[in-house]
Amino acid sequence: MKKIIGIALAAALASQVFGFSYSGRCHSQGQMPWTFNYNSRGTPDCANEFAQLTTALATWSNVSGQWYRQVRGANTSQLNYGYDSSVLAVWYHSSYRSYGQNPWRWGSGAIAVNVYWYSGSLIVHNDVCFNNYNFSWSDSGASGRMDVQNIAAHEFGHNLCLNDLYNSGARDYTMYGYCSYGETKKRTLHADDIAGIRYIYPNTGVRLNEFKASPNGGDVVVTWEAAVEINHAGYNLYRREDVGLGAEYVKLNEALIIGNSPYTFKDENVVGGVAYEYLLEAVDLNSHKERFGPVRISMPGLKATFALAPSYPNPARTEAVITFTLPEAGPARLTVYDVSGRRVATLAEGALEAGEREVVWNLTDDRGASVPPGVYFYRLETPTETAARRLVVAR
Ligand SMILES: [Zn+2]
Repeated sequence: MKKIIGIALAAALASQVFGFSYSGRCHSQGQMPWTFNYNSRGTPDCANEFAQLTTALATWSNVSGQWYRQVRGANTSQLNYGYDSSVLAVWYHSSYRSYGQNPWRWGSGAIAVNVYWYSGSLIVHNDVCFNNYNFSWSDSGASGRMDVQNIAAHEFGHNLCLNDLYNSGARDYTMYGYCSYGETKKRTLHADDIAGIRYIYPNTGVRLNEFKASPNGGDVVVTWEAAVEINHAGYNLYRREDVGLGAEYVKLNEALIIGNSPYTFKDENVVGGVAYEYLLEAVDLNSHKERFGPVRISMPGLKATFALAPSYPNPARTEAVITFTLPEAGPARLTVYDVSGRRVATLAEGALEAGEREVVWNLTDDRGASVPPGVYFYRLETPTETAARRLVVAR
């Protein structure tokens, strides 16, 4: 939070709309309530600073339609901010130096600072420090002083991961980043501040930290991580081939996907060289649906390997199915020979497509006559590769 003492008048931007600003990080429900320990010395400037801090915490906790809760804990003798077990509210003032406190370090214009630590998108710790080096404090909106509740309400809004707003059109919002002496209008929340806390900590529905699709061998692994799941029943996952506008999404799961975040869904029905889009649908207990995404993935092109598979059945009595794979389109030939090396039948010949194909041999020679029982060989040839296998014809 920055401080300006005299506000220079500027032309107002009458039609601008100012939304709340959110850092993308937040608390988890398991961290509730978020508990502050007040440094027991407070500020020497006024009597009711702790009651005002507590009221400022509650100003946010009391907003309906959201689940975030922040409360007062024990008093503490801790003086300095830091990543430790105690979430701290502390005034930094010059008389504290004899107690080992570091001097105010965030610039003389900063009225208060909310320092937070995070892991991924989760806030893991924060401390709120009030500047008593450069400012005097009041619990009554006194002129020439900063009002405790006014500033605390703003700083505790940062606990939620709401950001400062600096545009003059947001000057009446609690999260506006400037203020003046004696100001008290930030003690209460503006509709935009309320929209912010309800957005980050909604008491219905789902909010995702992450939703992504990744190639995994020849499959796609779709993962998503939910920060919030309230009145939540489960998910549906949809996919479409990226074949231009109008392609239909197809649901991949049969039953609703339930479980614990993070979620993983392995999609094995994908083809190399094709792009897909995935759409996630959260369903709540009242069957309301909310969709997330899509996320897009391009599968790497998979080059097939030259292969000639064992025929089946073997021995063959009426027919033999022969499967082979060509890595690229081009001339190829599949022929059957008897044990003396004489060609019996040509099953495929010419320019063939890349990929896997099946050929059925009905156990006849090239003139249509049934071949006698015995051992045969079938051979696949391309200009660069050859493979052969044995099969038995039994009658
Ligand atoms: Zn601020």
